[in-house]
Amino acid sequence: MRIDLHTHSSLSDGTDSPTRLVLNAQSKGLSTIALCDHDTFDGLAEADECARRVGLQVVDGLEMSARLFNITVHLLGYGCKTNNEELNMELAKVRASRRDRLPETLAKLGSLGMEITLEEVANHSSTGSVGRPHVADAMVARGYVVNRDEAFQKYLSEGGLAYVERYAVEVSRGIELIHGAGGVAVLAHPFIRSRGSTQITPEIIEEMAFDMHLDGIEVDHPSHSAHDRDLLHELGARLGLIRTGGSDYHGTGKIGHELGCETTRATALTELLRVIASRGGRA
Ligand code: AMP
Ligand code: FE
Ligand code: FE
Ligand code: ZN
Repeated sequence: MRIDLHTHSSLSDGTDSPTRLVLNAQSKGLSTIALCDHDTFDGLAEADECARRVGLQVVDGLEMSARLFNITVHLLGYGCKTNNEELNMELAKVRASRRDRLPETLAKLGSLGMEITLEEVANHSSTGSVGRPHVADAMVARGYVVNRDEAFQKYLSEGGLAYVERYAVEVSRGIELIHGAGGVAVLAHPFIRSRGSTQITPEIIEEMAFDMHLDGIEVDHPSHSAHDRDLLHELGARLGLIRTGGSDYHGTGKIGHELGCETTRATALTELLRVIASRGGRA
């Protein structure tokens, strides 16, 4: 069994349609993937349908943008019921805030001599979740940068010349909402190092486990060093957290995140599905 519990589709900032994603997973010899689009469930129905057709296991997922004070936190929500009103309202709020900041982002780029219209950004995104990655795509199309990575490095990441703040839910509330929808909350890539943003520490993870009832942490992720993984593995074991792994595949949208390059152990998946079932979520 090869299990990749962190992937994205074109319904957020991946470049594969959900169908393409499932077919690619199958051709890579994966048995299970989780589709975790940013702040939307819109790709799940198509992924589930294709998975049934070809006999692959798809775990319904979500990657929710949250924050702890000024620290950006991504929560992976597995097995959430997609019709939970409170959760859906929160996701809509983040998506709206991500869209609403676009004019200001484009104005900043304009003042730096990079002309980009809202239409161009829209051309690079679907109806799901539109954000900075699609601005980056428009910048690439104009020849201002060579790829998304350069766009983020130079302009779009926190502290960058064209960075604009957006709303994100408090992480304790995010975990509560995932639980309320019957899902399991896993902290995504705890030790990712994004330019300009403050880091999550082991102490914060401990607080999230004890005070906020976090269920798991993503240990194996392309952004984690061997040392990070050892530390997270031991910390997770000590705190009783489910330890997962995933590629954070975005199709051609992110370098170094090949589908299936990081995996989750079968025992961890079994535990994840058991907890989802016990909460009445979607497995
Ligand atoms: P937003 O939700 O609009 O704030 O955009 C954040 C998203 O941009 C993240 O979820 C990442 O998937 C993506 N992202 C961040 N840094 C990079 C990068 N260097 N290259 C490609 N995508 C990135
Ligand atoms: Fe992304
Ligand atoms: Fe993330
Ligand atoms: Zn992700």
